[in-house]
Amino acid sequence: MPLQFFNTLTRAKEEFRPLIPGQVRMYTCGPTVYNFAHIGNFRAYIFEDLLRRFLKYKGFKVTQVMNLTDIDDKIIKGTIELKVSLSDFTSPFKKKFFQDLDTLGIERAELYPEATAHIPEMVEIVKKLLAKGLAYEIDGNYYYSIIKFPSYGKLAHIDITGLKAGARVAADEYEKESVSDFALWKAWDERDGDVYWETELGKGRPGWHLECSAMSMKYLGETFDIHTGGVDNIFPHHENEIAQSEGALGRKFVNYWLHCEHLIVEGRKMSKSLGNFYTLDDILEKGYPPVAVRSVLLSTQYRQQLNFTFEGLDAAREGLKRFNDFYRNLRDYGGGESSGEADDFIKKLLTDFENALDDDLNISPALGALFDFIRDINRLKAEGKLSADERVRALQAVEKINTVLNFLIKDWASPRQDSQIDAMIAARADAKKRRDYPAADKIRAQLLEMGIILEDTPTGTKWKRKL
Ligand code: AMP
Ligand code: ZN
Repeated sequence: MPLQFFNTLTRAKEEFRPLIPGQVRMYTCGPTVYNFAHIGNFRAYIFEDLLRRFLKYKGFKVTQVMNLTDIDDKIIKGTIELKVSLSDFTSPFKKKFFQDLDTLGIERAELYPEATAHIPEMVEIVKKLLAKGLAYEIDGNYYYSIIKFPSYGKLAHIDITGLKAGARVAADEYEKESVSDFALWKAWDERDGDVYWETELGKGRPGWHLECSAMSMKYLGETFDIHTGGVDNIFPHHENEIAQSEGALGRKFVNYWLHCEHLIVEGRKMSKSLGNFYTLDDILEKGYPPVAVRSVLLSTQYRQQLNFTFEGLDAAREGLKRFNDFYRNLRDYGGGESSGEADDFIKKLLTDFENALDDDLNISPALGALFDFIRDINRLKAEGKLSADERVRALQAVEKINTVLNFLIKDWASPRQDSQIDAMIAARADAKKRRDYPAADKIRAQLLEMGIILEDTPTGTKWKRKL
């Protein structure tokens, strides 16, 4: 089966063909750095991580650009409330964002451009739109005249025939019901404090949508392959990006638009405005490992709503224990006789995994294939029917799949060298030799407190981390 994605533009699954064979250029809308991201936001970033990692798994060279929105209404409000500069206000949120990406095992994009560093590029687009009669000015504010762009509404599937020209909206975010001319550039007023740029358009600041048109085309070209975001980005943000880019340049902006559904809590979108959100730290403080959060966010196909629950996190943790135990035990396995079955299982795993993800990143059957494999290989091992060579190939297959999932925990278990843990284990062995069992038990308890579980096996004491 060829690689297929559901394209929001056509509302159909389409075979994916990049403009340049073997290379993918994609733009993923990033965070507005006025607050800490919540796990709903991270659902979008994990979906994009899966997309990126799977494209690489398939052999594509990926160039991903994710913007940082470091200027908007909410940020200006924050700088005024705290009486700090724009960059002083946004920098702790930027820093935390990148830390959270690392904690969740999200691979870095190639570029993270910031809106405030691209004002001249944005001004250029407005000038082109003015020259083409697609934009107009009122009192230093510049608006896009949507009625002059006949295909306006093609992404969100809204019909603007019959719409009266001239209704305007200044806010960056608004509902479909208020479809109207949107702000490209906003003239400075005193509520903006000292946040403004002096440009050919006058003193002011850009609207939100303009930055993504400017930065995507600057780094990826005027037409590129994939643009993503959450479904809430379809309208007005992405609709307006299309109008700006295609209006200014007269050519197709993006070939494939992919949008992930929301993460919901008790039936409602997790969002800052509803106050029903958890940050990553909120969850880690409850004792869950980051990889369990990654697993929950990854394991529901991106076009389905993801209902967030703590039971879901518990189940994810169990699955991860199973997977990491399997990998560790397979690594330590000595090998038996081959029954010739293992290579069929390996082939089946790799084929089923890839076929599932080829089908619009259908993750559930991909994970199903992995857990079937674990069961089948464990059976072969138990029956002594897995040879040392087959074991190596099985490990390689699991590692290959893990380049997409990133579920293996590096320091999950021995024999990784850890001098402190190793020394404590040796001290415990000594205590046992002396028959000082209370001392041995005390060391075991201390290790458990550090999150280390001991396992006494015929070949010595092993350890693993408690998830
Ligand atoms: P924001 O910082 O609000 O602009 O959001 C950043 C990204 O997170 C966007 O792609 C949003 O579509 C996405 N997003 C926000 N809330 C959720 C949610 N509850 N579930 C999934 N994605 C979300
Ligand atoms: Zn954007």
